[in-house]
Amino acid sequence: MLDGYKREINYLRISVTDRCNLRCTYCMPAEGIQLMRHDEVLSLEKIAEVARIGAEKFGIKKIRLTGGEPLVRKGIVSLVKMLKAIEHIDEISMTTNGILLSKYASELKEAGLSRVNISLDSLNPDKFKDVTRGGNIEDVFKGIETAKEVQLTPVKINVVKMDSSNKDELEKLEEFCQQEELKIQYIKQMNLETGTFSQVEGGQGGNCSICNRLRLSADGYLKPCLFSNQAYSIKELGIEKAFNSALQNKPEKGKTSHKHGFYNIGG
Ligand code: SAM
Ligand code: SF4
Repeated sequence: MLDGYKREINYLRISVTDRCNLRCTYCMPAEGIQLMRHDEVLSLEKIAEVARIGAEKFGIKKIRLTGGEPLVRKGIVSLVKMLKAIEHIDEISMTTNGILLSKYASELKEAGLSRVNISLDSLNPDKFKDVTRGGNIEDVFKGIETAKEVQLTPVKINVVKMDSSNKDELEKLEEFCQQEELKIQYIKQMNLETGTFSQVEGGQGGNCSICNRLRLSADGYLKPCLFSNQAYSIKELGIEKAFNSALQNKPEKGKTSHKHGFYNIGG
């Protein structure tokens, strides 16, 4: 469906949880975040209903599952199954930190997931551990291998270019992706509160003039733009009204957001 600036909106990014098994320095404070209460988080059935109404009435064709970390959400495989059963949804993808991927990749593929983006900012185990505050890079390598084996392809690697990343490291990541037949996309470190954002290199994010996305937070807010405070509650407004409001009020360009962070809207 067209928004107020005649952009065709057909892509819904769903944050299925604000929980995460890592604490990346650019995403979360070291002490963690104020978590949503369990009873605030949408049930899997409600998420699927939002997707179904989005597909039937508002032209949603593509879905990406994100988080927090989507693979820590219980029932994630059955959610993929429910989404796959919705008419008009052509593609379901996922952005994950890859830590639990080797465990779930095969089931996810069978359930109907098309492909995955895996976040990996360094190939150096110590640096990786520092950036993620404790992650084991070997788990991510296993996740990448399994994703390739079960053909959750093309596997894309999301690299956040941090102020601290050095050129040498980025070159190694580029070589690794070439050798392993992975697509690489770079995201410059952003700050929602100050409105520091940039286009994704090798991807489509961050280009407002062709933005085709809406986002659903784990607690049920439809957000028309990552860099905006606008958020329409499906619980208060109902699903259709929330979709209509998000579409009609999608801003021409992003500015700043103080209401949601990367950890609960999913980037
Ligand atoms: N936990 C999953 C993961 O890390 O892939 C999914 C959620 S994470 C918030 C989604 C994407 O947002 C990741 O690729 C992550 O690197 C990126 N991200 C998080 N904080 C960011 C920031 N401040 N600037 C740019 N990208 C960020
Ligand atoms: Fe977790 Fe992803 Fe944020 Fe890292 S970027 S803390 S893995 S949600």
